[in-house]
Amino acid sequence: MLPLASLIKELADLIIECEVCGNLDTKSPCSICTNPKRDTKLLCVVEELGDLWAFEKGNIYSGLYHVLGGRLSAINGIGPKELNLDTILKRVTESKIEEIIIAINPTLEGQVTAQYIIELLKNLDVKISRLACGIPMGGEIDYLDEGTLRIALTSRQDIK
Ligand SMILES: [Zn+2]
Repeated sequence: MLPLASLIKELADLIIECEVCGNLDTKSPCSICTNPKRDTKLLCVVEELGDLWAFEKGNIYSGLYHVLGGRLSAINGIGPKELNLDTILKRVTESKIEEIIIAINPTLEGQVTAQYIIELLKNLDVKISRLACGIPMGGEIDYLDEGTLRIALTSRQDIK
């Protein structure tokens, strides 16, 4: 067990936080931020590293990320300074980002956090979008809660 434990410690010591996006990697800027194949016009804002991994695992997104490290929470004393939040403004101002995709969890605190970001960026010439909310794939309408059904209805898409 001991060689294994020391190996894990050695690996853990190599991991650092990316100074640009908040991802964890062995280098900073991380391998996503420095990958020339990524679309530098898109920035996806997520709460946690696990959310970034979910996108990467699915291989469904080729833009860049911004990991907040949590969400605003008055009850838990988490304000903008506790999160990687205000750095978004600097990042958007200093780069070629054209669209911010807000991929924050649709909870009450998540909505407050998303609103904060929208306010932060409202004077910049950048498109702001958010992930659609609603019916999960394979889901059944009669099992959905009222809130989910309401947002699915209001965010419906034209198909013709
Ligand atoms: Zn990075």
